[in-house]
Amino acid sequence: MADFDYDLFVLGGGSGGVRAARWASMAGAKVALCEEYRYGGTCVIRGCVPKKLMVFASQFTESVEDAAGFGWSHTGSDFNWPFFIEKKDREIQRLEDVYAANMEKAGVTLFRARGVLSDAHTVELSDGQSFTAKHILVATGGRPFSPDVPGIEHTISSDEIFHLEEQPKRILIVGGGYIACEFAGIMNGLGSKVTQFYRGAQILRGFDDEVRGHIAEEMHKKGIDLHVGRDVKSIEKTDTGLKVLCSDNTWSEHDVILYATGRKPNSKGLGLEKLGVKLDRHGAIEVDEYSQTAVPSIYAVGDVTNRVNLTPVAIHEAMAFSDTVFKGIPTPVDHACIPTAVFTQPEIGTVGLTQEEARDLYDIEVYRATFRPMFHAFADRDQRMLMKLIVDKDSRRVLGVHIVGPAAGEMIQMVGIAVKMGATKEDFDRTMAVHPTAAEELVTMRDAVPG
Ligand code: FAD
Ligand code: NDP
Repeated sequence: MADFDYDLFVLGGGSGGVRAARWASMAGAKVALCEEYRYGGTCVIRGCVPKKLMVFASQFTESVEDAAGFGWSHTGSDFNWPFFIEKKDREIQRLEDVYAANMEKAGVTLFRARGVLSDAHTVELSDGQSFTAKHILVATGGRPFSPDVPGIEHTISSDEIFHLEEQPKRILIVGGGYIACEFAGIMNGLGSKVTQFYRGAQILRGFDDEVRGHIAEEMHKKGIDLHVGRDVKSIEKTDTGLKVLCSDNTWSEHDVILYATGRKPNSKGLGLEKLGVKLDRHGAIEVDEYSQTAVPSIYAVGDVTNRVNLTPVAIHEAMAFSDTVFKGIPTPVDHACIPTAVFTQPEIGTVGLTQEEARDLYDIEVYRATFRPMFHAFADRDQRMLMKLIVDKDSRRVLGVHIVGPAAGEMIQMVGIAVKMGATKEDFDRTMAVHPTAAEELVTMRDAVPG
């Protein structure tokens, strides 16, 4: 058998790559990892983490307003964008250092370079070095995609929003997915005038229809100028800003335009196709349930495989890969029933089937509660919460749970366990409520929605 420099060489130091490298190294493998930009990848450097910090920052406007409803007197003040960006950058640097240190502590050899494959066992680095490995893991993630619209060069993606020197007074956000809706809430909360265009009939395609309607209404109420059925025809830079010709032939003007129109897998130029690794029509690496590609020594995890593009999923796939290959425990990844949150304002938490998906597969009952949470009622804020349980009439299993409201992300993590375990509506019913909370509605809904 051939001698290799490493048992495992990982391309990409993001959520999936870092976890796979550490897990394999801790299992006794000799591991190296190359990263072309910064350790931590999209999630830590320009995704989940800085985004969540911005969500926190943007929620103070309402907190201060709500405080008045509880008897506090306050005076409004402006948001100090450069202060926040600088502090956020320091925190991200600290986290990047922690990621690198943890990998080194686990015995992983790190290379700050781009890697490409020259054969099924060889990685060529951009610094000229070349190494062989028994197994290669491609964990190169994805990158923002923007459509080919005239003037698109004047726009930014989510990568750049984290580094703007000034807070835009007027921002247009194009897209209706996770990133567009989250940043609409963030920038609105921070005091920018937010306009959002989504090309389809309702934002957040793929989510429960009622959830989509509810969140769109709440976003409108908060002052986001959301237009569905509207897209950008062209963009022109003028002395006063960026002038947009809209699909309905109206014009609008903004200081910054953020395109949040999806992401594409980073699979091009890695030398994969010529080795026989298969890519689908979106450029995603095709893998089996063990994350193995068509070339037995090459595996892929995370966004580059475009299965479910979330950090915990990339981490799960990475650990399953390491367990399979380095611990000899074949571990397929179960992608069913993944809880997820959209950090809109208010938040969305969802797990399992939407009402629309479930009714095509089962005879269902729907339990629904909409109400003004106690906190908002007292603060006199017009914000309503939505909770839905989708139940299979025959087995009584709860097939899906959908929440829109404060702390929905925290709640769905816990409810996700019950749904994953196959809990029935009666299991929910015999669980005592925690009072007074908003979450208690999840176990106190007694009557199915008629029809
Ligand atoms: P990445 O984290 O993208 O890592 C890939 C790494 O590979 C990168 O560091 C890249 O520089 C490097 N690389 C690429 N090519 C090469 C090469 N040839 N050689 C060496 N290195 C290379 N998910 C959530 O679960 N919750 C959230 O709240 C959330 N918020 C998000 C917000 C934003 C704005 C974005 C963009 C994404 C968000 N995500 C969120 C998604 C999440 O960030 C990704 O699913 C996750 O980072 C995928 O991990 P990964 O390891 O597959 O890829
Ligand atoms: P999404 O796929 O969620 O949304 C893309 C949006 O852009 C959709 O509304 C889509 O419309 C629209 N779109 C696509 N192409 C065009 C086009 N040519 N012109 C106009 N609009 C277009 O991608 P995001 O970029 O928002 O996020 C990428 C992924 O990152 C998410 O899917 C998610 O997996 C992950 N993420 C997770 C977060 C979390 O867990 N909280 C937060 C942020 C990101 P249509 O629906 O009509 O196709």
